[in-house]
Amino acid sequence: MIKDEAKKGTQKVYFGLPEEVKFCKKCVMSNQKPNSVPEFKNTAGQKKLTIAFDEAGVCDACRYAEMKEMQIDWKKREEELVKLLDSHRRKDGYYDILVPGSGGKDSVQAAHLLKYKYGMNPLTITWPPHMYTDVGYRNFRRWIDIGGFDNITFNPNGKVHRLLTKLAVENLFHPFQPFIIGQKNLAPKIAMKFGIKLIFYGDCSAEYGNPIAENFKPNQGTEYYTLDKKDFSKIHLGGVSVDKLIKDYGLSLNDLEPYLPLDKKEIIEKGIDFRILGYYIKWSPQEAYRYAVRYTNFETNDVRTEGTFTRYNSLDDQIDGLNYWATHLKFGIGRATYEASHEIRYHLIAREEGVKLVHRFDGEFPKRYFKEILEYMDMKEEKFFELADKFRSPHLWEKINGKWNLKHKVS
Ligand SMILES: [Zn+2]
Repeated sequence: MIKDEAKKGTQKVYFGLPEEVKFCKKCVMSNQKPNSVPEFKNTAGQKKLTIAFDEAGVCDACRYAEMKEMQIDWKKREEELVKLLDSHRRKDGYYDILVPGSGGKDSVQAAHLLKYKYGMNPLTITWPPHMYTDVGYRNFRRWIDIGGFDNITFNPNGKVHRLLTKLAVENLFHPFQPFIIGQKNLAPKIAMKFGIKLIFYGDCSAEYGNPIAENFKPNQGTEYYTLDKKDFSKIHLGGVSVDKLIKDYGLSLNDLEPYLPLDKKEIIEKGIDFRILGYYIKWSPQEAYRYAVRYTNFETNDVRTEGTFTRYNSLDDQIDGLNYWATHLKFGIGRATYEASHEIRYHLIAREEGVKLVHRFDGEFPKRYFKEILEYMDMKEEKFFELADKFRSPHLWEKINGKWNLKHKVS
């Protein structure tokens, strides 16, 4: 049932991960982190599924952070931005740019800068979380009400979204997958309806260790948001092909429409461009947070976020915590690893402190909304944990005295 299971060396390895676990010499990220750029090939032309480490044992995300400081001419990048915006700018008051987001700090900053600093007329769009947290919903309202934006919120069919989320957990242990797919495919569809040709996202994927080459492209991996053609045996949602969802689960093509990609040809013909603001301006999570507080009164979590030591990153969906717990289970990388690595790269904490934070918080179970999530997925607690254990790759986990232990920990 686990895809890409392979027996390398002496132990089983799931998901095509590297068998040997290594940690970056600068941050606390391991080499098990998957790329979100699926077609990326390394210099030898092989598909590279996980984050790259160089000869010095440093990860791509750390190298990108160095480049941001030293090599990138940000003044020149901003000039490029202004030129691009000028070519889309409309004088008739109509929308000229689309900014997707849910009211998190990054989308707040992107939309606000584009409107108030660069004088664009953005339409914001939202594919809402499965279940908003109270603080997440308040921040969403502040984005629109205090920030001052028009917004279209697309609410997918709740029955279908729940089923797909449940399937994504059962088949992939990836509770966010249908949300991510839906959200990505929504933007070009709405852009097309409103005759908008420019879509702007906030932070860039190179921040999180996607291939460093992406950093030199202003659209950074967004070309993969679309497919060349609609082959329903090849498009999977929650690990099930669209063909099968229709045949075996009683869904209609219309039920699945929000999740299906547009034809790539159509997007090119209509001249729709995807851009990342983080390519043009020197983005940082701390700055995005400060910006959102200053201009929209953005609110942090009232308590420390489960599984980590921070209060301000992705906190709008009740399922967020579980999603990170799932990455800890599948790749040995939890929320504290992601966030400590980021803070090390921005010189906010030292590596030793990051190591301590990972040991203390990574993999902490997100109890706060667990009951609601189980109800949402219509799943029993025993079934959930039974399922979870099937996704622990034997090269990462061992059971000692009935307790699961990570074999390799950052040190
Ligand atoms: Zn690193």
